[in-house]
Amino acid sequence: MKVFKVHRDVHDALKEEEFKTIGLVPTMGALHEGHLSLIRQSVSENQLTIVSIFVNPTQFDELQDLENYPKTLASDLNKLKKIPGSVWAYTPSPSDLYQDNIKAQKYDLGPLENCMEGASREGHFQGVATVVDKLLTLFSPTRAYFGEKDFQQLKIIRRMVQLRQLNVTIVDCPICREDDGLAMSSRNARLSPKERKLAPVIYHTMLKAKAMKEKHTPTEIMAWTEDTFKEFPELTLDYFSIVNQENLETIEVFNEQINARAFIAVKLGDVRLIDNLKF
Ligand code: AMP
Repeated sequence: MKVFKVHRDVHDALKEEEFKTIGLVPTMGALHEGHLSLIRQSVSENQLTIVSIFVNPTQFDELQDLENYPKTLASDLNKLKKIPGSVWAYTPSPSDLYQDNIKAQKYDLGPLENCMEGASREGHFQGVATVVDKLLTLFSPTRAYFGEKDFQQLKIIRRMVQLRQLNVTIVDCPICREDDGLAMSSRNARLSPKERKLAPVIYHTMLKAKAMKEKHTPTEIMAWTEDTFKEFPELTLDYFSIVNQENLETIEVFNEQINARAFIAVKLGDVRLIDNLKF
């Protein structure tokens, strides 16, 4: 496996070899099975997979969150080395991507930008769109892989790709969960043992909420979920929304024409966890 710190070296290495298809998997590191599932899918569909590991400063609205984000580069590279197939790691410094202007660009992301994660984390999606745009522009991959764990992010990326008319196929990958149902996340490593034990309540509450769908309206289910979280003082519900997954607008009724999906964000200790489930 090759490891690059600067994009120019990636370009030089690409000139030396002929790859007909390139898959890009952008990550912020602290790699877990969720990331590895995206990488394996890319390896199975492309001659070369480039995995970027970069904790992108422009998508963090709180400095503390950026500083607390787990950074485990040596163990990440070991995990990548074990994947059979052509995998290159790109681990840039902020200046390799942003030069001396570490700022998000401005995209017209429409109503997708300000609901749910966007409402809670100001400027977050402009930062995400900026870094993914930079990576796609630098490497011109055939395909780029993103997890449904960050479903709203996937929508934002598709919108940015359309606005910028980038020639890439965006591939959505299913959410990987721990055996107890908790969605895998780099942030899970920051939970105390007690918090980790409690965290699957998030997914299990969503499953129960989904089971209410036949007899209850989205508004009733949202109220029930809010009440349920009141029983767990350690878990602070930021939002629970049932939306049309095409435009992320809240829905009033369930019907066959609407692809409903529920989204949740919960604070457990000082760790913010998100999840979503097709309804
Ligand atoms: P991150 O390092 O958190 O920015 O995630 C990098 C990519 O991995 C994003 O496309 C995420 O959606 C995806 N990802 C993170 N966790 C999971 C998971 N549990 N299942 C599937 N994909 C995931």
